[in-house]
This record gives sequence, structure tokens and C-alpha cells, in this order.
Amino acid sequence: MNLILMGAPGAGKGTQSAKISEKWNIPAVSTGDMLRAAVKEGTPLGLAAKSCMDEGKLVPDEVVIGIIKDYLSSDKCNNGFILDGFPRSIPQAEALDAMGVKIDAALSIEVADEKIVERMSGRRICSGCGASYHVKYNPPKTENVCDSCSASLYTRDDDAAETVLNRLTTFHKITEPLKDYYAAKNLLICVEGQEKVEDTTAAVMAALAKFEA
Ligand code: AMP
Repeated sequence: MNLILMGAPGAGKGTQSAKISEKWNIPAVSTGDMLRAAVKEGTPLGLAAKSCMDEGKLVPDEVVIGIIKDYLSSDKCNNGFILDGFPRSIPQAEALDAMGVKIDAALSIEVADEKIVERMSGRRICSGCGASYHVKYNPPKTENVCDSCSASLYTRDDDAAETVLNRLTTFHKITEPLKDYYAAKNLLICVEGQEKVEDTTAAVMAALAKFEA
């Protein structure tokens, strides 16, 4: 299964992509995670991306298209993949089509803006494996410690309140039109992501059941 995961920042794409990846045994790639790793390492890519990310804007299309092209051409993707956070603009979607990659579904996790703002303020990320937690809705077993790898948790710089608002504006303006793009190709599936993580997971798995062999 070749899957695109869409949704506002904080909708739960990373959380659900980890669950789908585990169940289907296919890799999940997050352009956001790759960019954050590049920022941390101080690579030229990271230096170019940092200011856009800090402002809640998108990194230029050609930068992320290059990253994804490399990734999709690797053997890891032979049995399928999940794209978390790519494409995020119409030109990115067109570039993906131009790569000749067949997409089975574009799954959109639907969450209202008010809920997003609340979620982002409580989001914590593992400094070791990148797993995502929420202080109230998905807390780790031990405060500030990752359940999977025991590394400490941190708050993403771009989860600051004013940056979240910029990211939401960017989402509605540049990313949300992708829903029409994939609906026109008959690939769009929308699931409710407002309530508990388990409810969203159940809805996601039900929606993807038709792709099981
Ligand atoms: P995320 O972790 O998916 O929320 O991404 C964090 C930030 O990385 C975004 O706010 C963008 O600045 C950048 N980013 C991630 N994916 C993309 C993409 N496909 N196109 C452009 N910028 C991206």
C-alpha cells in the first residue's frame, strides 16, 4: 500500500503513521522529521530549512521534493510506504505524480482548529526516537521520559502558540487544496480525528481495511 497521510499540523499524522507502519509492516517517512534531523545536524539542508520552519512556513517545494525522490527510490519502499506530511502543496503533489509513483489512498485526518491549538501546546517529542506524546491525551508512563527508548521528551520550537497559528494559516491556504486534488482522482479518504487516539486509529484501520491483501 502506498499511502499519503494528510491533516493539519497536530492532527495526529505522526501517531497514526507509526501505527499503520507497524500493522502493515511498511516504512513511514515524515518530511518534518527529516528536516528536524537536518536542522539538528546543522547540514546545509537544515540551515536552509530552519528559518521557514521557525516561522511556521513551508520549506521550498524543490527542497522537500528532492528529499522524497531519494527516499522513494530506495529499496525500503518496495513493498509500500506511508508519506507523513508530504505532499503539502499542489506543486509537491504534481512532482510526486511526475515521479510515476502510484498512490493507493490519500487519508485526511480531520480536526478543528480550536482543538489543534490545544493539542500543540501539550505536545512533547522524544529526543531519541521522535515518538510523539501529549501531556494530557497521550502521556508517557513516566513524566518526560519516552516509553519506547527512555530518552527525554522536549517541546518542538514550532509548537509555540504564535507559530502554530502561522502553521494553521499555511495549512488552510496551501495544503488543504490537496483534498480536492486527491478527491478528483478518487483517492481521498477522510477520517475523524477529534476524539481519542484509539478512536482515530480504529477509524483509520477501518478505512484502510480494503487495501489488505
Ligand atoms: P511537521 O513535522 O510535518 O509538522 O513539519 C514541520 C515543518 O517542517 C513544517 O511546518 C514545514 O516548515 C516543514 N515541512 C515538513 N514537511 C514539509 C513539506 N512537505 N513541504 C514543505 N515544508 C515541510
